[in-house]
Amino acid sequence: MSGANTAEGTEALLTATRLRKYFGSTAALNGADFTIDSGEVVAVMGPSGSGKSTLLHCLAGILDLDGGTVRYDGHELSALPDTERSRLRRSDFGFVFQFGQLVPELTCVENVALSLRLAGVARRRAESSATEWMARLEVDDVRDKRPGQVSGGQRQRVAIARALVAGPRLIFADEPTGALDSLNGERAMELLTGAARDTGAAVVLVTHDVRVAAYSDREVVVRDGQVLDTTARIAGTT
Ligand code: ADP
Repeated sequence: MSGANTAEGTEALLTATRLRKYFGSTAALNGADFTIDSGEVVAVMGPSGSGKSTLLHCLAGILDLDGGTVRYDGHELSALPDTERSRLRRSDFGFVFQFGQLVPELTCVENVALSLRLAGVARRRAESSATEWMARLEVDDVRDKRPGQVSGGQRQRVAIARALVAGPRLIFADEPTGALDSLNGERAMELLTGAARDTGAAVVLVTHDVRVAAYSDREVVVRDGQVLDTTARIAGTT
């Protein structure tokens, strides 16, 4: 599936226009615009409560919009039936959340392999791909442990492997290092952005931490439900 052409002949991977989202009388998003290109790593910054997580959930089609549009790869996400949207999310998107959110009853390798298994990949092949990604994320030594038996840093790397294993084109990461100490956080960011760059995946990276944002190509700032500022990161000046 390829995107519709613009005057320049290319379309961003995802374009959100004038997004609105209300929780009761709270306008969590109040006309937010956002764009990300294929392979781009964009940090979404801003104070707590400004609308960053709501923006991420609306971009990923997890939350329904009260206004505006999200176009992904030529499709208007909000116009797709729920089943189509879920299918697209499974095939094209990867997710990393603050606390990893692994399934506690499954081993780490089973967690990483889960999306492939759900897509119909045979167990042996799914777990072999999962193990390769775990090695890349430097956690293949915990493949047979359950999430409760490994450290927070290891859990988050397992979660990153899980986000990458099915070859997503777009990864949504919401405060991915929020529960980690700075050393583990930096290593997790190096591994996440390194893997995304190698595979050509784009990353929407919600964070309030400037050290995490330093791994991005570009920063946007969310304030009062609007995306205010876009700053291109100049190579070598992070
Ligand atoms: P951030 O991620 O920048 O901390 P959020 O997107 O979580 O901000 O929240 C933006 C605003 O929307 C806040 O005022 C928050 O209290 C409100 N909000 C977010 N999610 C909900 C929800 N599920 N129910 C009610 N209010 C919410």
